[in-house]
Amino acid sequence: MFKTTHSLLAEALTGPVVLAGDPGWDDARAGFNLMLDQHPAAVAFPAHADDVATAVAYARAAGLRVAPQATAHNQGPLGGLDETLLLNVSGLQQVQVDPGARRVRVGAGVKWDRVAPRLSAHGLAGLHGSSPDVGIAGYSLGGGMGWLARKHGLQCNAVTALELVTADGELVRADTDNHPDLFWALRGGGGNFGVVTAIEFTVHEVEDLYAGALFFPFERSAEVLHTWSALLGTFPDELMSWASVMHFPPIPDVPAFARGRSYAVVMAAHLGTEAEGRELLRPLRALRPERDTFAAVPPVVLGDLAMDPLDPVPFRLTHQLLDELPADAIDELMAKVGPGSGRGPTVTILQFRHMGGALSRALPGAGARATLPGEVCGMALGVVVDEASDAAVRHALADFDAVMRPHRAGLYPNFVEEPADASAFFAPAVWERLRAVKTDYDPADLFAGNHHVPPARA
Ligand SMILES: Cc1cc2nc3c(=O)[nH]c(=O)nc-3n(C[C@H](O)[C@H](O)[C@H](O)COP(=O)(O)OP(=O)(O)OC[C@H]3O[C@@H](n4cnc5c(N)ncnc54)[C@H](O)[C@@H]3O)c2cc1C
Repeated sequence: MFKTTHSLLAEALTGPVVLAGDPGWDDARAGFNLMLDQHPAAVAFPAHADDVATAVAYARAAGLRVAPQATAHNQGPLGGLDETLLLNVSGLQQVQVDPGARRVRVGAGVKWDRVAPRLSAHGLAGLHGSSPDVGIAGYSLGGGMGWLARKHGLQCNAVTALELVTADGELVRADTDNHPDLFWALRGGGGNFGVVTAIEFTVHEVEDLYAGALFFPFERSAEVLHTWSALLGTFPDELMSWASVMHFPPIPDVPAFARGRSYAVVMAAHLGTEAEGRELLRPLRALRPERDTFAAVPPVVLGDLAMDPLDPVPFRLTHQLLDELPADAIDELMAKVGPGSGRGPTVTILQFRHMGGALSRALPGAGARATLPGEVCGMALGVVVDEASDAAVRHALADFDAVMRPHRAGLYPNFVEEPADASAFFAPAVWERLRAVKTDYDPADLFAGNHHVPPARA
């Protein structure tokens, strides 16, 4: 009976609808994290905003919930998708760039890799994160912390308008003049309020950019992390730096010199001249890295800087926003997961991002995610290849969390990969306001955002 009903949706939509058992079902429900397996009632691929409205109206009438999704880079928190229509917006691919006005408008399915090169050609940069493969809409709805965040803040607060289909099937524009509460909630409150069809945002002029990475032998990880963390107080907002310990797989996507090797790596992007950047990084360079890729570069280079995987990977991830990264915590962590711990590449990527700067200052008119707490974001990711490595990764990530917990300032929803209580991500007054907006726009809780904001009376 359900199959017949969903066939009605397929007839009504311009884009395809894929059901269990159809050819292409596994591709339609695939995500970025190969550890996870989504089982929605159906997957619809709207071709345009009218299709989105049709699908939302259909789901409501059929008693299904609606989970908006673009690239499935963050499908983990959604949990079970029983009785849920997965609305994959990847067909919404319009891109308009107005370099003079420093404004961009994209369809909700557009990834950063379609926009960053075009902006770079005009000396402009958007506030994308480490991977250009991430979707602009999902990234922006959850916050968006990238290479220019200490100078320009979170991407959600660069958003100037969103168009979305709300629970009553209406296509609305949310900006400072129209549906201002909804506009506020969408900028940090995630996919709980409707299906975004288009998003508009401002971008930044980049006159000078000095960026790259210093690679040190893995065995020197503790020394590199200590030197980097001691320098953070000297860095201006124009400099965003990340210190990582990375185990690179022996695959063609990895630069040839790093394939199958392990390094401590300091990456940075400095919005300034090469001379300034060199001076700021002098103490790190004095450690004599094995390889130094820093150069004056165009903004498009920022998409490759972190060397994130573009193909789906099986992994577990944990993170903490930290008030500080004290020296004894580095030592404890190195003893648990660093060289000499005997754990090898179990924590495939251990990463610390310098935060603060504009991330800690609320702009007038900011959205629900106005700031992020903490001076450092610590993250540990383990690639899982089999049951034994899964147990080892879980154990190592638990050790990371235990060492970091005393310094914890909060959590950042975009980096939470499991179902979680979303109230923990917001100050109580922000959470109450988000729930009030949810109650106004989606009282029956039709939309399943990656991190659930329930209506006040649910
Ligand atoms: C390799 C990698 C690198 C990353 N780097 C960074 C980084 O540097 N900085 C950072 O801040 N984050 C980063 N992230 C996290 C990323 O921002 C989140 O995973 C984000 O949710 C991805 O958005 P998406 O649209 O690509 O993914 P999806 O899983 O498709 O979407 C995530 C959620 O966004 C909402 N959503 C998506 N599209 C819509 C829509 N059209 N309408 C309504 N809601 C929608 C839904 O609730 C959905 O569940 C990274 C993730 C990965 C896997």
